[in-house]
Amino acid sequence: MKRAFFLAACLAAAAACRAFLQKSAESIVIVTIDTFRADHVGAYGSRAGATPGIDVFAREGILFENAITPAPMTLPAHTSILSGYFPFRTGVRVNGTDRVSETIPLLAPQLADRGFATAAFVSSLVLRKESGIGRGFSLFDDQFAANAGKSERDFLVERRGEETVDRALEWIGQRRAKGEKFFVWVHLYEPHAPYEPPPAYRQRFAGREYDGEIAYDDECFTKLLAGLDPGSTVVLLAGDHGESLGEHGEETHGVLLYDATIRVPLILRLPAKRLAGRRGGRRGSVPALRRASRTRPRGFLRVGLRRRLARLVSDARVTALGPQVH
Ligand SMILES: [Zn+2]
Repeated sequence: MKRAFFLAACLAAAAACRAFLQKSAESIVIVTIDTFRADHVGAYGSRAGATPGIDVFAREGILFENAITPAPMTLPAHTSILSGYFPFRTGVRVNGTDRVSETIPLLAPQLADRGFATAAFVSSLVLRKESGIGRGFSLFDDQFAANAGKSERDFLVERRGEETVDRALEWIGQRRAKGEKFFVWVHLYEPHAPYEPPPAYRQRFAGREYDGEIAYDDECFTKLLAGLDPGSTVVLLAGDHGESLGEHGEETHGVLLYDATIRVPLILRLPAKRLAGRRGGRRGSVPALRRASRTRPRGFLRVGLRRRLARLVSDARVTALGPQVH
């Protein structure tokens, strides 16, 4: 890896949005796509053709080239995205057993206190309300049929992105009709293993089913965007972590810390598409976020820790040690 500067931009995003919204009446939408490698996005250089909608969105916003997730696992990563803290501060390190403590500040309750209507629509049992991640959301929609009666250890349970997005759009439409500012978190789960895209995508991406799942979520994301007012809405798109896809002997994610699993897409679109086309690179991410938030989020420079952790596991072949789903 030739990265000279590591940026845990997911951590900073929460702080940026929070600061931005303290003095605005604009709404905010965070979309997380699970198991989403940056290098499978056209805007990040992929030629897979799976992300036409996200590529347009990237041109309308600020793209962070070196966004590094603090943990290649769903609940710990989302806890960091929504709190702005590393896992060693949140205490959330694994799925299924760890819980988000009441003492961890989260974005939703803070925005609710400032008068935002809040809702979350998740697509995986891993992020069920009982994990604690739902604190502060007046509506936390994890009640999809496939969840019924399942053990919280059954991480594979999910619902399709279109259903999740449709439910979010219905709620957003109600808020817009009432003129309320809102905060919504939408979580899409398709790229997570097993890779089983809908038939049309399976055919188009035959032999590349992971990209087929991404393409399906690209369409869902585009549909969600169409239901928002770009003039008054902050939209943040992020991956929670990537996927090894066999690199370094790891099939999925959750153990190793190579780029495949820790480098994620992170794109921030401001109202009226301000700062459109900016790219936050190795030296540009911090200034870009500062411009976006007009603040100085703390903690940026501590992310060298990620590099040290990566060295600890370099070239380890520990697939058999890792849980098979995350
Ligand atoms: Zn995940």
